[in-house]
Amino acid sequence: MVEFLLRWLPMEKQLSVLQLKLGLIAAIRGVRLLIVGECACLYNLDPVEVMAGFKKYPADKGVYCPHCARDVQPALSSETVPYPFIGPTLVLDRLMELKSLPFEELEKDHRAIFYSALVHFGTLYDAFKQRGIIRQYDPRPANWQDRIAGYLGRLPDETIAQLVGEDPRAIAKLRRQRQKPTFSILDVQASI
Ligand SMILES: [Zn+2]
Repeated sequence: MVEFLLRWLPMEKQLSVLQLKLGLIAAIRGVRLLIVGECACLYNLDPVEVMAGFKKYPADKGVYCPHCARDVQPALSSETVPYPFIGPTLVLDRLMELKSLPFEELEKDHRAIFYSALVHFGTLYDAFKQRGIIRQYDPRPANWQDRIAGYLGRLPDETIAQLVGEDPRAIAKLRRQRQKPTFSILDVQASI
């Protein structure tokens, strides 16, 4: 429910939430990703515009530039390399072609698909589930509770649960144990 309300936040606050989600992915997975969308008209799409711009059909055309309506191929940039950032429909199509591969191999050999799936769906488990395939849960570090501690209460429990592959009730319990406040949509800061 709270997640649904996030869509109605002003643009700057949506951007903060998205940056927090990318920060949480970095905390869990050890890879910091940046969403970049540079158009040929020199307009830089911000990450929220990129996320909102992916089309379902045709799924392989990237996102529209809001200034000149060209197609832009956004990138998901890590510390070392930019990877093409792929829209959710295309990610699922590609995962279906690669569904027999172990998660470790997807991460090593198909990084654009792997990282795009994390940003859109939180975990590979949830991505495969979208197409009715139940696989094992994503591997995660043993100390994941410590890694996510700084995000408790700053994002909805459901959002954290989705990214870490956990039940939202377990995240709520952890948040109370660590004496972090309940997430409030009113407390989202415009910049982080
Ligand atoms: Zn443009």
